[in-house]
Amino acid sequence: MHINQLFKEDRPIFSFEVFPPKKESSVETIYKALDEIKDLKPDFISVTYGAGGNPADTKTREIASLIKNEYQIESMAHLTCVNADKASIDSILKDLHEHGIENILALRGDINPNMPPKKDFLHAGDLIQYIKNSPYDFGLAAACYPESHPESADSVADILNLRHKVDQGAQVLISQLFFDNNLFYSFQERARIAGINVPISAGIMPVTNKKQIERMVTLCGASLPAKFTRIMHRYEDNPHALLDAGIAYAIDQIIDLLANGVHGIHLYTMNNPYVAKKVKESIKNLL
Ligand code: FAD
Repeated sequence: MHINQLFKEDRPIFSFEVFPPKKESSVETIYKALDEIKDLKPDFISVTYGAGGNPADTKTREIASLIKNEYQIESMAHLTCVNADKASIDSILKDLHEHGIENILALRGDINPNMPPKKDFLHAGDLIQYIKNSPYDFGLAAACYPESHPESADSVADILNLRHKVDQGAQVLISQLFFDNNLFYSFQERARIAGINVPISAGIMPVTNKKQIERMVTLCGASLPAKFTRIMHRYEDNPHALLDAGIAYAIDQIIDLLANGVHGIHLYTMNNPYVAKKVKESIKNLL
């Protein structure tokens, strides 16, 4: 089923994101995590695609196929194009199709300064259009950024480019993580004003360990509200307290988002079934 069909139901759609294990760790770790995560019955699970963009490096298809075919949960494979040419995308699409995967989150991917981008796909929209014109019938989602993509000149350019991606065929948008719901609400408003009428699912990441806090600050560029930094500073050296506090913060965000009628919640699980379980347990009667 294409995931945009799920969003036609009159209820918020609750989904998870998992990532293939890093090369050095065993693939068994993700299977063990998924075995627990599947019992939480998310509406769909998406599987990220290795940042290097080399299909040989990533187990995306293998994991997405397991989710769909063994666990009978709708899956969505992420796919990046910045380091890909048409031939490699063709073979990935064929492979995904042959394994019964029906949904793709089509992305450009981050530009690696040590790897000059290939020329076939400049933006995610090019990939979306290419997949749409392929022989296969994939449901298509794209990424969006409540605080704008860091390369966008300003929020107007960001929204116009997003509108372009939707015009090219993105049926659902999944947001970058954020910690301040008001930023998400104003982004949603800008999107609607720009005529973007597809469902937008809110990306939420419970921050539950010190390493994540540091990555958050350096990598993701998300604004950190005072309430969030106060909690993180207070508990950063107390792993158990930080785990509880990070989960509670995410639940608080989700309840507010659901109360404000958001179309969906996409939980960045970090492959942690405990966190996913705690969140689901706390909001199950709101879904
Ligand atoms: P685009 O939509 O192409 O946007 C990139 C920049 O180009 C933006 O500034 C945009 O405004 C601009 N732009 C877009 N279209 C045009 C146009 N037609 N003309 C001019 N400018 C344009 N990365 C991974 O490597 N693997 C993953 O699995 C992965 N999953 C992700 C999931 C989500 C939900 C999100 C939010 C991000 C994910 N990323 C992933 C990160 C993503 O690859 C990076 O954020 C990347 O820098 C941009 O990808 P994009 O698809 O949003 O690019």
